[in-house]
Amino acid sequence: MSFKIALAGNPNSGKTTLFNALTGSKQRVGNWPGVTVDKKMGILKGHDDIEIEDLPGIYSLSPYTMEEVVSRKYLVEEHPDMIINLVDATNLTRNLYLTSQLIELNIPTVIALNMMDLLNQKGDKIDVKKLEKELGCPVVEIVASKKNGVEKLINKAVNMLKSTPKYPKVLKFSDEAEEFLNSISNIISEKDFTLKRYFSIKAFENDSDALKEINLSSKKIDEITKIREDVENREDDIAESIITTERYDALEKISDIVLKKAPPKLSKTDKIDKIVTNRILGLPIFALVMFAIYFISISTIGTAGTDWLNGFIEDPVQPAVKSFLTGLGINEILIGLVVNGVVGGVGAVIGFLPQMMVLFACLAILEDCGYMSRVAFVMDRILRRFGLSGKSFIPMMIGTGCSVPAIQASRTIENDKDRKITIMTVSFMPCGAKLPVISLIAGSLFNSAAWVSTSIYFVGIFAIIISGVILKKFKSLASEPAPFVMELPQYHLPSIISVLRYTFDKAMSFVKRAGTIIFASTIVLWFLANFDFSFNLVDENGANSILASIGGLLSWIFIPLGFGSWQATVATVTGWIAKENIVATMGVVLGLGGSMNESSPELLQAFASSIGGPIGGYSFLLFNMLCMPCFAAVGAIATEMNSKKWTLAAIGYQMVFSYVIAFIFFNLARFFAEGIFNLWTVIAILLFATLIYMVFRKSKHKERKMEYSVNIAK
Ligand code: GDP
Ligand code: MG
Repeated sequence: MSFKIALAGNPNSGKTTLFNALTGSKQRVGNWPGVTVDKKMGILKGHDDIEIEDLPGIYSLSPYTMEEVVSRKYLVEEHPDMIINLVDATNLTRNLYLTSQLIELNIPTVIALNMMDLLNQKGDKIDVKKLEKELGCPVVEIVASKKNGVEKLINKAVNMLKSTPKYPKVLKFSDEAEEFLNSISNIISEKDFTLKRYFSIKAFENDSDALKEINLSSKKIDEITKIREDVENREDDIAESIITTERYDALEKISDIVLKKAPPKLSKTDKIDKIVTNRILGLPIFALVMFAIYFISISTIGTAGTDWLNGFIEDPVQPAVKSFLTGLGINEILIGLVVNGVVGGVGAVIGFLPQMMVLFACLAILEDCGYMSRVAFVMDRILRRFGLSGKSFIPMMIGTGCSVPAIQASRTIENDKDRKITIMTVSFMPCGAKLPVISLIAGSLFNSAAWVSTSIYFVGIFAIIISGVILKKFKSLASEPAPFVMELPQYHLPSIISVLRYTFDKAMSFVKRAGTIIFASTIVLWFLANFDFSFNLVDENGANSILASIGGLLSWIFIPLGFGSWQATVATVTGWIAKENIVATMGVVLGLGGSMNESSPELLQAFASSIGGPIGGYSFLLFNMLCMPCFAAVGAIATEMNSKKWTLAAIGYQMVFSYVIAFIFFNLARFFAEGIFNLWTVIAILLFATLIYMVFRKSKHKERKMEYSVNIAK
């Protein structure tokens, strides 16, 4: 006489470890019939007549995965003599969820309670005697990895096999559930068969796979369908989910009886998290942290570096290049191109390198020490409240570096509609290339105040949130947010190497862009800014230049936004090639770089008036931060959307949105600060009201809620 024992348990409960401990080297590996799931068999050590069958790791006996189907088929059809059910003691309820289903198969079962070492470490206690009583089967505590308790487990199993079989006790559900299961049980069983409970539940769940085994008449199926539909209507839930809830309710009761949790010991990480991810404090803390970062990088340390570098470019670099070229006897126009065009334009961008490096080092430190995942967690809570997925925050964080990888990172969002929304909006974040622009405006018009950059950062986040809310109300983008699960790593000191590497990488790509695309742009710009249409050199202020003419043609568009000069117009347009170009253009047409402190008052005056003073300047920032991103990012949008229509929709939305926001800001700010009230103010108020309406109107396209993932974990 020989026996068969099936080893069943959740993935990672230690099945392989236990299987090896039980069988030693006597193993065979095969395949389950027809599928590619591994099948392992072995002989129990010291008992040649007992074969152990290692089932695939599963969370339940539902019919959704190959592993589940294989395990279920084996247990129901082959009916082994015993099940050894491996249960991870540190995760009791979730593991017992499978146990509750195994029990219904009416096979003698021994529970191997594994990971007892980890449970003891946590200080939790499981009352084994009480657990045995609740489940009606023996429970043996083991540490599979150290083979502790394995001998005892073997003895228990062998004794049970060779004595009269003892069957486990099914979970008791709520009275209502017991009642409808009882009715179904009466319908399906004329003759007496052992798996009544199992098949009643499967019939209720309409699990056609399982029902094939019992061949019900169509009349009986109709009766069962009626019961199911009545219950589903009454509970306003689907059958499977009703059973899942019943199981968890019953298991929670058992867990309350048998599991004594040690008072949670708060680790350092937990203590920090209590404050940092606090419902109320989380966001203000994040705002403060970002303020501090911008304060360091844009207003203090970084600025000192930038001022020095700009000063260095202005003197000695520019004069040295000039005298060197003059010494070579080169044409004066060409010298102008090199000195004012290339060195001036590229230099204006490169000048911001120190600020960028300080900013990226700070962001890398926050990321590396584990704070940024907390921010993702805090933001998820906020985004979710607006019906958006927390997953879009990861692309947003990446977007502070560059929009291109941020747009690509949207691939982690499974829901296609959420993904489209993220692609359309993630470039609202102030990327590295926009930083010089922010810094230029903050430095020349706001005395380098840190609130300028901080506010732009949060304008970016806010613009993404309200755009999400607005876009979700359109039929083609409406969907429910998908659940977002992330693990929060322990806090640790950031690694200097990885911080330096990140900063260096960012700096290199910044320098590379300055040396290629910005370099090429400045040459073209310099030419356009210094010649008129008959290719004659124009005078100092460049008012007759080709560039001024083109800018002048388009500048009316930006007059309602407060920055309708040809210079600001041209800067905006060249910004679509690369955002650094905005600064490079200012460098070429106004001779304005990053070192505000050293710029002459006249230069600052010229810049301020070309950009419409502080209000116009901030409006200029708003528009340029939110409008169409650079060509590279538009390319990424086109690739990720993989649709002309959606790419155009994205760019169209960004253009309209940025225009509206800057329009509202400029005209309302002017009204409040200077008391100017005119037709534009009225339009701004109307636009503002429309925006509010778009945010708060009721969506007509709510999707049916799908709560299907309940099967795995709760
Ligand atoms: P399976 O996925 O169920 O086959 O799990 P494995 O046997 O591969 O075990 C998963 C991990 O848990 C491995 O790293 C094992 O070394 C570890 N492990 C297994 N049993 C124990 C145990 O009792 N205590 C501890 N601390 N670790 C264990
Ligand atoms: Mg394994």
